[in-house]
Amino acid sequence: MIESIDTVFGPDGALARVLPGFEARPGQVQMAQLIERGFLEGMHTIVEAGTGVGKSFAYLVPALRSGKKIVLSTGTIALQEQLFQKDIPQIVKALGIPARVTLLKGRSHYLCKQKFERVRAERLIASSANMERIWEWGARTITGDRSELPFSPTADEWEQLDADADDCVGEYCEHFRDCFFFKKRDEAKYADIVVVNHALFFLDLAMGGGLLPPYDFAVLDEAHQAERWATSALTATLSRSSIGRMLRKLHRSYDVPKSFDSTFDEGVRGLESALARVPGDRYPLRANDEAAPALAKLRDALYGLENWLYANWQSALRRKTENDAEAERRRDLALRGILAHQATIERAQLPTDEAIAWVERSDADGRFEVNSAPFDVSDFLSAALFDRTQSVVLTSATIADGDSFAFLRRNLGVHEAQELVAPSPFDYAEQARLFVAPPDVNPKAADFARRAAPLVEECLDRTRGRAFVLFTSHARLREVHAAVRERVPYPIRLQGQMPRARLLEWFRSTPNAVLFATGTFWEGIDVVGDRLSCVIIDRLPFPSPADPLVAARMQSLEARGQDAFEGYMIPSAIVRLKQGFGRLIRSTSDRGVVALLDGRAAATKYGATILAALPPATRIQHLDELTGFLHE
Ligand code: SF4
Repeated sequence: MIESIDTVFGPDGALARVLPGFEARPGQVQMAQLIERGFLEGMHTIVEAGTGVGKSFAYLVPALRSGKKIVLSTGTIALQEQLFQKDIPQIVKALGIPARVTLLKGRSHYLCKQKFERVRAERLIASSANMERIWEWGARTITGDRSELPFSPTADEWEQLDADADDCVGEYCEHFRDCFFFKKRDEAKYADIVVVNHALFFLDLAMGGGLLPPYDFAVLDEAHQAERWATSALTATLSRSSIGRMLRKLHRSYDVPKSFDSTFDEGVRGLESALARVPGDRYPLRANDEAAPALAKLRDALYGLENWLYANWQSALRRKTENDAEAERRRDLALRGILAHQATIERAQLPTDEAIAWVERSDADGRFEVNSAPFDVSDFLSAALFDRTQSVVLTSATIADGDSFAFLRRNLGVHEAQELVAPSPFDYAEQARLFVAPPDVNPKAADFARRAAPLVEECLDRTRGRAFVLFTSHARLREVHAAVRERVPYPIRLQGQMPRARLLEWFRSTPNAVLFATGTFWEGIDVVGDRLSCVIIDRLPFPSPADPLVAARMQSLEARGQDAFEGYMIPSAIVRLKQGFGRLIRSTSDRGVVALLDGRAAATKYGATILAALPPATRIQHLDELTGFLHE
């Protein structure tokens, strides 16, 4: 007889029998019941599961019991690994349901045997020490997964060897049958659960399928990142590095006249200098009148390259192909890159009501690039995902804005879904304190760093370091750090001083450490125990209205007669602030304080709305109320 969900999670149930110390939480059982119902009745399910609910078990149990093919997608590698290596094997063992599980990564994570062979045949010795180590590894690996490498190759090094689709002739390749990527994809075809990341999941949707095998149900954990990843999958980019990649691919297959390199180099330099004339690291393309002629010049160069390829695709091949069909496949792959760049230029110059083109300074190389993407992905997701998949589960510790999922549903295009907010089992009133700066501390004011610095110092003093100090901008981070660094007697590190993983390792292993960070440290980080007892947040994390995507989304709401501040800014800030807050309490024995240095939170109506959506920590008016609160 099949056990009910409550029995599986109950004191004598399958999980408790196999997992020592397992104790279900009420929110976890409720969540599992709802998801199972969604699977059985073909409904979408949205669940916000507060920290500690144990959401992965709550979706894995119904997923395995369903007997259907499931794609499970996560935003971070950390969660992907935890699911694949720990949670799924535990649930499989506990339920005694045999299941085939595969972790599938994007093509570029795998080694291409053909490229590897050719690079080695062309060069007697490796071009760098890294390359030599990759060669050694490539000769013995049985998975071809680059995560086996004990170091990260540079993008240029790895691009010469990866299984990227634009270089792959598929069945015409002599390694097709034992290709690392295709073997893995076949494995996924026969798996019951395929674990992927959001980048691959949404790219598959954007390409109309083909990267993932067909599936019955999709579970998206860390679903608060879904809109971002969907937008990214639909973003077309034109940059020095995308043009360089396109040319290098062409050179690998054809004897392309060198004159094209100089034409494109000149074209890209012209574009970059035109883009740099408008101040700012991210602005709408339409704000720059000089971009259009520079883009037109590049488009002409792309037409020239396309014509050359059509005329020379047989005679200029660098290696003989097995047959005409393979040569045609090579030509089509090469054309794909050229046409994609032409389309990007055309799309960027003709923004529609649905899409926006913007200029951005790349984080990777500091150079300007042109991007275009739809600013609203709801229609696309509604058609490509929610209308086509029997049941989609969206879950995260932070996807509700207050008690509602209206923000998420509108952004993602979810029309019908059952919903649940499963509160955290932690006793926030007992375990956490919330301090909000006095109303006159305003992050928009010029004297903010001077006003905030004494509060940061006092907080760190009371918590004896052990803190994340999180900022919404690098400039603000540097300003406040400069104001406090001489006066804080604890070891301080700044984001960027070492790679993220090492910085975290340093934090976890250093007594009384203080980390000043932005961006990626707001989420996905788990520091259990008293090494992290304080999270200081500089301001209410509203998205920047100067950001072209944000501005376009707000304008679109206003055009529909909605209040963009209420409908977009406030819910975005709530989700983000809850993420930052979520770093603090990770277990029932953690205790800590969140200090919000933005006095507007205490003085405004919208501030009250945002604070009301946070976990129910005990609010304190003065930092000296922390005396005796934290474990010493
Ligand atoms: S099938 Fe494609 S990816 Fe695989 S080895 Fe051949 S060319 Fe490379």
